[in-house]
Amino acid sequence: MHDLIVVGAGPAGSAAAREAARRGLDTLVLEKDTFPRYKPCGGAISDRALSLLDFALPEDLCERTITGARVHFREKVMERHKGYRLTTLVTRSRFDDHLLKKAKEVGANLAVERVLDYRENGDHVEVLTRKNSYRSRFLVIASGCQDPLKERVLGRAARNSYGVCMVAEIEEDDRRIEERLHGSLDIHFGVANMGYGWIFPHRGYYSVGIGGLASRLRHPRKAMENFLRSSGFAESQRMHGHLIPLGGWGGRIATSRVLLAGDSAGFVDAFTGEGIYYSLSSGQIAARAISEEPDPDVAFGYQSRCKENFGDELRYARLLSRIMHSYPEIFLRILTCHEEVLDRYIEIAAARRTYRDFVRWLVPRLPISLLRTL
Ligand SMILES: Cc1cc2nc3c(=O)[nH]c(=O)nc-3n(C[C@H](O)[C@H](O)[C@H](O)COP(=O)(O)OP(=O)(O)OC[C@H]3O[C@@H](n4cnc5c(N)ncnc54)[C@H](O)[C@@H]3O)c2cc1C
Repeated sequence: MHDLIVVGAGPAGSAAAREAARRGLDTLVLEKDTFPRYKPCGGAISDRALSLLDFALPEDLCERTITGARVHFREKVMERHKGYRLTTLVTRSRFDDHLLKKAKEVGANLAVERVLDYRENGDHVEVLTRKNSYRSRFLVIASGCQDPLKERVLGRAARNSYGVCMVAEIEEDDRRIEERLHGSLDIHFGVANMGYGWIFPHRGYYSVGIGGLASRLRHPRKAMENFLRSSGFAESQRMHGHLIPLGGWGGRIATSRVLLAGDSAGFVDAFTGEGIYYSLSSGQIAARAISEEPDPDVAFGYQSRCKENFGDELRYARLLSRIMHSYPEIFLRILTCHEEVLDRYIEIAAARRTYRDFVRWLVPRLPISLLRTL
């Protein structure tokens, strides 16, 4: 009998496992893939996400330091920089592998097996893989957006509560990358049927991708090819598609012995698609709730701690995304034409401003037509 079984070794799973093992809980991680494994991602880790780690990331994992953002909408382009780091670029296969090693280093155990099902039985959970059955007091499901296991707790997601992304890694000389982007994340609004596209600088390659609402983006591959062409890249790239939850905060995320963390819980910023911060945070909170709360209060404790830590952030990100999708032309013109708006917005990534502060500052400055969407 383990204290905790974690399904999935992405950022949410490894953060939960490290925190639990550090607190002396007997912790087993069940991950279906052998690490390092590929993960479709832009690889931008905001400073507020990095600040959750209780160790420094090794230098060689940090490929670029980002101090600014360049945003495009139609013919408008605006670039703003800060005198401090907003984001660090990593390759997800290596980043995730490192987080998993840090969990194992403090005593979490790993078995490479796909979890097929589980049963809640009074004082424990039985977790089933093809070959084995494991038992634990608690289960954290951190198996991402596409694994159906989470639906046992959350129910089936509506089509408008997730997004579709396509991403390609395109090799390039580091000097050329620096010349093109010099320390910025390059974000193109209005592509992919009012979603967005990105060009992020890594070491020796760009991450290029598009993302949009699943209910609106019917032909993601075509949209990606258009974006590649308009950005000066060859269309015939090897691409990966992936879903991303954009539900913000919604629904039940825990039963008495099963907690959802990261993408499984839908914890992604509905406006930008940032998910790693929420994955690390919810994974750690899950482990703390299990180690600190009396057994019957764990689910309630977990939900209220998540709400307290980042519920507002997800709620305001969702609000901003609703405004953008209702009146994209006006909203995106405001974002790309007023330096102060972008200037304040990018401070969120470095935890120098909350979404709540930003939205409360922005709303009185929006035209009345936009406010009707609230
Ligand atoms: C194209 C794209 C670009 C993105 N870019 C960014 C970005 O730049 N910055 C950012 O902050 N966020 C970004 N995100 C969001 C971010 O990738 C996710 O929020 C984050 O990976 C979620 O972490 P997680 O641990 O919850 O799940 P995941 O990282 O998806 O990890 C889940 C793990 O569970 C394993 N697994 C799945 N099913 C099972 C099973 N049944 N049994 C055992 N193991 C299982 C998987 O193999 C995987 O290792 C992006 C997302 C996409 C799709």
